[in-house]
Amino acid sequence: MQQVGTEAHKLPQTVKITKLPIDDGHVYDLTSTNPWIEELLSELMVSGMETDPDGIPQWDSHVHVNLSFTRKHNHTYRDHLIVKGNIVGAYQTHCVRCLKPMLSEFNHIFEACFIPDMFEKTPEYQDATHIYAGDSELELYFHSKGIIDFKELIHEHLFLTVDEFPLHDEECKGLCFTCGINLNEGSCEHTDN
Ligand SMILES: [Zn+2]
Ligand SMILES: [Zn+2]
Repeated sequence: MQQVGTEAHKLPQTVKITKLPIDDGHVYDLTSTNPWIEELLSELMVSGMETDPDGIPQWDSHVHVNLSFTRKHNHTYRDHLIVKGNIVGAYQTHCVRCLKPMLSEFNHIFEACFIPDMFEKTPEYQDATHIYAGDSELELYFHSKGIIDFKELIHEHLFLTVDEFPLHDEECKGLCFTCGINLNEGSCEHTDN
C-alpha cells in the first residue's frame, strides 16, 4: 500500500492504467489544493454563491476526497481498476424557498470499477450499471485506451450527492409569491396566517 505523502494531492485528473503496478493499492487524500478538485468545487458554487454585505463569503466551501484504487488484471476484464471513494464537504448556497445563504453539507461513499471500453458495445455490458468484482457490487465505468478519468468520476459523484433543493430549515415558509415578504419573518395580506 503506497504511503499518503506530501505529494499525495498531486494525483493528476487522468491516469494511464498500465502505469500502475498490478495489485498495488494507492491512497490519495485530495482537497482543493489540487487544481482539478478546486475546479469541481468552483463549479458547484457557481449557482449558489452568496456573499455577506462586505462581499466576503460567510462560510468556507470545502471538499475532501479520500480515494483508494488498485489495478487488477484477470482473463475476464483484463486491466481493470477498482476504486473506492469518500467525498465529504460543504458548499455555500442559498435556501431555495427564502434565498437565505446557507451551507449545504454532503458525505458520499462510492465503489466503482473501470473496465476496458471494448466491453461497452457488448450485449452483456451495454446496459449494465454495476458489476461484481471480488465480492463487491461496483459501479461500472469504462476506460478508453487505458485512461482512467478520475475527474469525471468524482464530478459525477459530487453532483450526485449535493442537495438539489437545499432548505435552510425543513419548515422554511419561503417568500410570498405576490409581495416577496419573507414569511419566516412576517406575514402579509396574501397568505392565510
Ligand atoms: Zn429558507
Ligand atoms: Zn404577500
